[in-house]
Amino acid sequence: MAKASGKKTTEKLEFQAEVSRLLHIVAHSLYSEREIFLRELISNASDACDRLRYEALTKPKLIQGDPEFRIDITVDKKAGTISLSDNGVGMNRQELIDNLGTIARSGTAAMLDKLKGDAKGDVNLIGQFGVGFYSSFMVAEDVTVTTRKAGAAGAFVWHSDGQGQFTLSEGERDGRGTTVTLKLNDDAKEFLEPARIKNIVTTYSDHIPIPINLIGGGNVKNGAQDEDKDGDKDGDDTGSERINQASALWTRPRNEIKKDQYKEFYHHVAHAADDPWLTMHFRAEGVIEYSGLLFIPTARPFNIFHPDRKNQVKLYVKRVFITEECDELLPSWLRFLRGVVDSEDLDLNVSREMLQNNPVVRKIKAGLVTRVLNELKKKAAKEPDSYAGFWEAFGALIKEGIYESFENRDALLNLLRCQSTTDDGLVSLEAYVERMKKGQDAIYYITGEDAEALKKSPQLEGFRARGVEVLLLADPIDDFWIPSVSAFKEKPFKSVTQGVADLSNIDSPKDKKKTDKKQDEEKATDGLGDLIALLKIVLEKKVSDVRSSERLTDSAVCLVADETGLDMNLERLLKQHKQLDQASTKILEINPDHSLIKSLATAAKKKGAQNKLEDAALLLLDQAHILEGEPVSDPAAFARRMETVMTKGFA
Ligand code: ADP
Ligand code: MG
Repeated sequence: MAKASGKKTTEKLEFQAEVSRLLHIVAHSLYSEREIFLRELISNASDACDRLRYEALTKPKLIQGDPEFRIDITVDKKAGTISLSDNGVGMNRQELIDNLGTIARSGTAAMLDKLKGDAKGDVNLIGQFGVGFYSSFMVAEDVTVTTRKAGAAGAFVWHSDGQGQFTLSEGERDGRGTTVTLKLNDDAKEFLEPARIKNIVTTYSDHIPIPINLIGGGNVKNGAQDEDKDGDKDGDDTGSERINQASALWTRPRNEIKKDQYKEFYHHVAHAADDPWLTMHFRAEGVIEYSGLLFIPTARPFNIFHPDRKNQVKLYVKRVFITEECDELLPSWLRFLRGVVDSEDLDLNVSREMLQNNPVVRKIKAGLVTRVLNELKKKAAKEPDSYAGFWEAFGALIKEGIYESFENRDALLNLLRCQSTTDDGLVSLEAYVERMKKGQDAIYYITGEDAEALKKSPQLEGFRARGVEVLLLADPIDDFWIPSVSAFKEKPFKSVTQGVADLSNIDSPKDKKKTDKKQDEEKATDGLGDLIALLKIVLEKKVSDVRSSERLTDSAVCLVADETGLDMNLERLLKQHKQLDQASTKILEINPDHSLIKSLATAAKKKGAQNKLEDAALLLLDQAHILEGEPVSDPAAFARRMETVMTKGFA
């Protein structure tokens, strides 16, 4: 059937380079789970039927005369071939070239790099990256695809041995759909055995809601029933046998579904290879009725931060697939969800346009959001360790939600987890607020590039000395959601690198001997005013203010941002992304208890101090910048000053 039988035009075409690379990897690796090729081909056939079923809602002619969808698997032992035939939507010539000659999805190069590893699990990635068809070449020396688009008259034949090229020619096919025929490698003849095929189908594809028939043994051809040498046990008709349940998994009662069946459905619907971290199978009954089978992956999908931020859940109406692009079904911060939602209230021939601003969809969305947030809340409470894994993978999306979803802000803030200066693990805001110090009136945080580096920030010293916990936030998005939230449980968020740190109301172990401390302070302030005045003059254009600090205990200096301006890390981010031309000048805080500051203060009282201390003043500022992980403004001058100071020190 796939033969062009002396047809005039057989064109040779090159695979896109990425496809060739992929095929090379596929053909030359020893994968233990070669059988997944069948899952991938069935999945494609089922998608093709789903798509046509949807199109036929408005164009019933497309399925006239052949309204029942099906997938037939035919083995031909003599020829050594296995064929999958569907009566789905089919492909025209251009679609054949685009779909089976290129990889359209973004991130292909990244995927190929991952696949290069020789880990056995890698092959599963093929499905995830939307290149399942090519897995045929794990078991086949050549592959023929004969396809006829629904509504079109002619068929096309695609053929390849997976070596860089494929051919296209015109062909023939009885009726619409696609037949994929694999000429199996010698070492893959096991896939001609009916028992083996049945086993694979039950394992991976039982949930496919379209009947899968196995036509085995003889030379049965699709659509043709004229064979007689078949003559085995169950066949006086076509010798075919239904080998899957063929009912939509989400319509079955929960207690009849095994964990593995959920898992395989998840793999199919999500193109994923991991285990679902959370499975939610539910039916909502009331004003509106819908059911759903939703999953949260264990591993973060590679393209979760793709700028289109599309949700990935498929919308069905009364068991009929409608679209996987219903933007209104879920907010984009829930785009880690996979699975299906099936509505009873929408019209079967609802168009994709009609889904916009649709009140039913809006209600479903609100219901889904509440349901997911509740499930997450339960998980967080009952299985904190497991929840930490979820947080690692998808916490950044919950933060997007905090930023974007005012209605759900409280629920989302409760789901938030952060690193902090007190705990090695993750901290919830609730736990933070519970252990706030007496007199502490704000939730303190610091943002930056990584939590380990943040821990060493000088601005934290005073907080640490008083036992005040500070949240360490190292996601770029932290600088955006925090300013959008005014408070949690009436406690405002406050950056430790911005504004005045008024820690005077918070008990400190040091404060026990108040009077001693006062005397200390008086001693320390000796000359401090002169030093501050001097620093203000020398650093005039370089800082917006100089002041004595409450947040330092060990370091001599640090920088902080103005109370009213941007926080320092946010400013750095904006500069990096070229959304800001120039950084603002910062406030330089000095530690009055530090020995260096003390000696500088003493020196500042003397006559002609300014000349003597100019280098030291500039060095203090450079030091503060270095502590921020920033470059010094003039490295040559910095080095010269450093040399001078060291020379004096060793003289
Ligand atoms: P994916 O299924 O993830 O898109 P595949 O590599 O499995 O990736 O398939 C590539 C594309 O080829 C599909 O998206 C589909 O457009 C087309 N295709 C594959 N098999 C069929 C089929 N049986 N009927 C119609 N189109 C198909
Ligand atoms: Mg596929």
